[in-house]
Amino acid sequence: MAQDFSAAAQPMAIAAPLPRRSRQARVVWRNNVVTVGGDAPVRVQSMTNTDTVNAVETAIQVRELAQAGSEMVRITVNTPEAAAAVPYIREQLDRMGEYVPLVGDFHYNGHRLLTEYPDCAQALSKYRINPGNVGKGDKKDKQFGQMIEAAARYDKAVRIGVNWGSLDQELMARLMDENSRRAQPWDTRQVMFEALITSAVDSARLAESMGLSGDNIILSCKVSGVQDLISVYRELARRCDYALHLGLTEAGMGTKGTVASAAALSVLLQEGIGDTIRVSLTPQPGEARTQEVVVASEILQALGLRIFVPSVTACPGCGRTTSTTFQELAKRIDDYLRAQMPLWRMQYPGVEAMKVAVMGCIVNGPGESKHANIGISLPGTGEAPAAPVYIDGEKAMTLRGEGIAQEFQAVVESYVARTYGKHVG
Ligand code: SF4
Repeated sequence: MAQDFSAAAQPMAIAAPLPRRSRQARVVWRNNVVTVGGDAPVRVQSMTNTDTVNAVETAIQVRELAQAGSEMVRITVNTPEAAAAVPYIREQLDRMGEYVPLVGDFHYNGHRLLTEYPDCAQALSKYRINPGNVGKGDKKDKQFGQMIEAAARYDKAVRIGVNWGSLDQELMARLMDENSRRAQPWDTRQVMFEALITSAVDSARLAESMGLSGDNIILSCKVSGVQDLISVYRELARRCDYALHLGLTEAGMGTKGTVASAAALSVLLQEGIGDTIRVSLTPQPGEARTQEVVVASEILQALGLRIFVPSVTACPGCGRTTSTTFQELAKRIDDYLRAQMPLWRMQYPGVEAMKVAVMGCIVNGPGESKHANIGISLPGTGEAPAAPVYIDGEKAMTLRGEGIAQEFQAVVESYVARTYGKHVG
């Protein structure tokens, strides 16, 4: 019996991230204004792992991270020498025409460094302050206040970044004490979550009372467990409207770090929580630092929140394709597109939305290729040695022989120039 779709048929709801609700901060260097929160796109951040004292090496890595798509780059500012190097790093970046905002990461001595090195305070666009590491006892508020005063004086944004590895122990002890007097005490994990959130929100309110605009404040509460991060940020987002920086701290290496970060961040971003993200990957030996930017961008692109680079759809391969040709071609095209993006971004606006398909055989190859802007279906085992190419849904040509990879790359290049070059002018 034919199914009746007419009665009470409703189109299914199409998944989309919930609307966001945070205030908007501005992280600025010269004419590069990076808005965070409000209706701004979710921003990608990263952090260098060079010695900041080595200004040249640090500037080079900052540039690499920025070119890979990082919209702000954090650098460690841990010593007087590092603080003294910051203006030189900034100068070198400016000379290269790289105006990515720099974020200074301060712990323990930030109050002194920001006071004694005004050129450093000026050259940074945002200060990261960890309330667990600003001082103890009577000194805590005073030293925190000195950093806030510098931010207000130089009109800089601040991230109040709480981390469970360096949680304010005095606050934790106080909350544990209060908890012990509850009729039904919470478990320690819940108290710790409460301490993380309280530390962030109370510090932000204190900063506002000291004269920093709430619009210049971004909060983070990082933990290393996926479910813990989701719990903490849901509650943090419920309790305040400051812009939020998301990240799973110490996510780990390789696949584990990538998957854990993607799992945690995706749930929160889909709920409209999070205005800027960092993926804290431990680089594998020989792996580029830029990998964390690639992963962060891919998370946002996969969720449909941002578009950074043309996407390559490739099938996983199966018994129908016994050669590695199509895997090699998929990788080659993916690498090629990424490498071109720093130039193409300026030359060919809109190219980042392009979709390329590289498929292994005739089963899904032509169909998937037709859905892409440009697609190729390579011959599977036993198929004629020919690779049809589809452009904007139409079969445009068939490639054959040893030079398929080079020829397909040339076809992509000419498509890009033809399709997106016309916007220039
Ligand atoms: S497109 Fe062909 S080679 Fe690729 S997974 Fe499907 S059947 Fe296998």
